Amino acid sequence: MNPNLDPTGALQNEAEQQIERSLRPKMLDDFAGQRQIVENLSVFIEAAKQRGEALDHVLLHGPPGLGKTTLSHIIANELGANLKLSSGPVIEKPGDLAGLLTNLEEGDVLFIDEIHRLNNVVEEYLYSAMEDFRIDIMIDSGPSARSIQITLNPFTLIGATTRLGLITPPMRARFGINFHLDYYAHETLDRIIKRSAGILDIPITDDGAMEISRRSRGTPRIANALLRRVRDFAQIKGNGTIDQDIAAYGLQALHVDIFGLDEMDNRVLSAIIHKFNGGPVGMSTIATVVGEDGGTIEEVYEPFLIMEGFIKRTPRGRVATPKAFKHLGVVPPREQQDLFS
Ligand code: ADP
Repeated sequence: MNPNLDPTGALQNEAEQQIERSLRPKMLDDFAGQRQIVENLSVFIEAAKQRGEALDHVLLHGPPGLGKTTLSHIIANELGANLKLSSGPVIEKPGDLAGLLTNLEEGDVLFIDEIHRLNNVVEEYLYSAMEDFRIDIMIDSGPSARSIQITLNPFTLIGATTRLGLITPPMRARFGINFHLDYYAHETLDRIIKRSAGILDIPITDDGAMEISRRSRGTPRIANALLRRVRDFAQIKGNGTIDQDIAAYGLQALHVDIFGLDEMDNRVLSAIIHKFNGGPVGMSTIATVVGEDGGTIEEVYEPFLIMEGFIKRTPRGRVATPKAFKHLGVVPPREQQDLFS
């Protein structure tokens, strides 16, 4: 897969990451979409600032590339606090966690990405840090082992995850603020693309931006990546401006699906349609056929396919819609036509 278009963003190189950082909105006012989250956050941040307290801990969940990291930077900026970044798999031992926590100043924000991947031992230590701003650490081992208590400065933990289902109930209960980020509407992505084009000095027409936004899988990270790739086509094959024709040409050359579906989305649809005649079929069966974890499909891929009207959830399993059949160029079997008529 083209690394820039990987929905997980995991394959980005350093240069790509740097451009992505330059496109990151810095304050709540610049953050497009997710209105409810933005409105609530601005209240919570203002209230915490007025009281001179650390903001409550925040859990952000939703598919990759929708703005969890961006929101964490924004929260720290709005609070006027420092932000420390880490991630679940990197914090291997309680000592790693203690190192991070004891370096936080009062009111600082600690961001832990992929918080569902923290191991159990570290997670338990985090509980008392979140609740009472203290941490008990065992030093030495064997007969001389003893525990010492360290008092921490009050801080805000922001945990981000694509897999809410893997967050344990006690962990979840310790977050006072809990937000789910949804896929973005085309109109919102359109605004994000135009803003990014402005920052990167890329001439773009209204219909050029709309063409890219429709094919960005509801995801700002993908929208920004496609904008930069299409710019190359505009520069070499066009007159430098991104209009609808050059956008459509470039996206076709990049094999970007006209609905923005990625390889896994298409595999899920193809499994339901080709192997199970359009369903209904259970998630665990789909997961086995496409070779992906069922929970990941359910939390990362399925919501987009449902939002765009390609599949439906029924009590008996997932069903492909006529739009999905049409997309794959397959004529629906009779029962399927009856289901939707
Ligand atoms: P996540 O942490 O959820 O994977 P990021 O916060 O890294 O996603 O967002 C990926 C990119 O998308 C960022 O560089 C940012 O430029 C852009 N982005 C995300 N959300 C928004 C938004 N609401 N408005 C504008 N740009 C956004």
